[in-house]
Amino acid sequence: MTIGVLGGGQLGRMLGLAGIPLGLRFVFYDPTADACASAVGKHVRADWDDVDALERFAAEVDTVTYEFENVSLSAVEHVAKVRPVFPNTAALRGTQDRFDEKSLFRSLGIPTADYRAVDNRSDARRAGAELGYPFVLKRRTGGYDGKGQRIVADDSEAESACDELAGGSLVAESFVRFSREVSVIGARRASGETVFYELSENTHADGILRTSFSRPRDPMAGQGRELLTRLFDLLDYRGVLALECFQRGDKLLANEYAPRVHNSGHWTIEGAATSQFENHLRAILDWPLGSTAGIDCAAMINFIGSLPPVDDFLAVENAHYHSYEKAPREGRKVGHATIIASNRAELERRVAGLRAGVAQQADRS
Ligand code: AMP
Repeated sequence: MTIGVLGGGQLGRMLGLAGIPLGLRFVFYDPTADACASAVGKHVRADWDDVDALERFAAEVDTVTYEFENVSLSAVEHVAKVRPVFPNTAALRGTQDRFDEKSLFRSLGIPTADYRAVDNRSDARRAGAELGYPFVLKRRTGGYDGKGQRIVADDSEAESACDELAGGSLVAESFVRFSREVSVIGARRASGETVFYELSENTHADGILRTSFSRPRDPMAGQGRELLTRLFDLLDYRGVLALECFQRGDKLLANEYAPRVHNSGHWTIEGAATSQFENHLRAILDWPLGSTAGIDCAAMINFIGSLPPVDDFLAVENAHYHSYEKAPREGRKVGHATIIASNRAELERRVAGLRAGVAQQADRS
């Protein structure tokens, strides 16, 4: 059985690493020369609008998935004419435009920050008057890792941010004074069987995820699962789905969803009985889903920009190192580590120590 993956980055690579023991083969479609998933499968290098290459790719595979949500929708639709694609195109379409995504949440009764469409400077000032300052101005399409967004403090910044982000229509969102950021990750297969991982608690800097902690028996887990279930059902979903939320008081506000495996779920590789990558593959193939039971407390540290020396990490008890074999570049996710501990205090102490080392390394490089 051959899985076709649209996109050949680290998520594709980790899907391949999880799928090879299940007897799966992989073909990755990616326009870039250095797609790091090519270590675990064949790389078809072609542009998203190359219809012939897409057809050749489809002919080589049995089932198709994608590993990032800004993959060209027309490429996915083209492939979907001849091969099953999971998650389905409705799930992909729903997340490619931030305004539509929030409207989808609202239609399901999923709470979000207040938001407005912004197409010009006067819309941006009106958004400030209606939402209050500060607010967050984001490109509706194409943004990731905090790219394509600005925090806006007053009328004049509303105008300048609007100019800077021009090149697409925008959405203004109330600035949420959250107590923490969490994500809920689950998998659903065709029969409707679903599984959920422990809640992930996430920290970001400059819009990029830095750490995720699994939070066993978290009091917000039930609410998160209930929100995710609404999306699962509406989208008749197959695969892993992640919902990123802000917690304000005892309520979760949805920020965005990802119809794919998610960075905040990387700890599941060593921290859960079945990783999100394996469960994604099981779900898209309609195979029985694996247990998501957590193994002690787990956390993930992202390596951003450059990799710390592997032996420093391996010297730490129960630390697991994942290099994506990507060229170092500022702001780029080039690897991660998972840390396992038997209790929360111990986990937090180890992560804080390792994080300080990672930050020093990033400063030196
Ligand atoms: P996003 O690209 O929407 O995932 O945003 C990246 C990060 O920016 C989030 O994880 C938050 O830390 C922050 N952020 C985004 N939107 C808001 C908001 N409306 N209020 C407060 N912080 C936000």
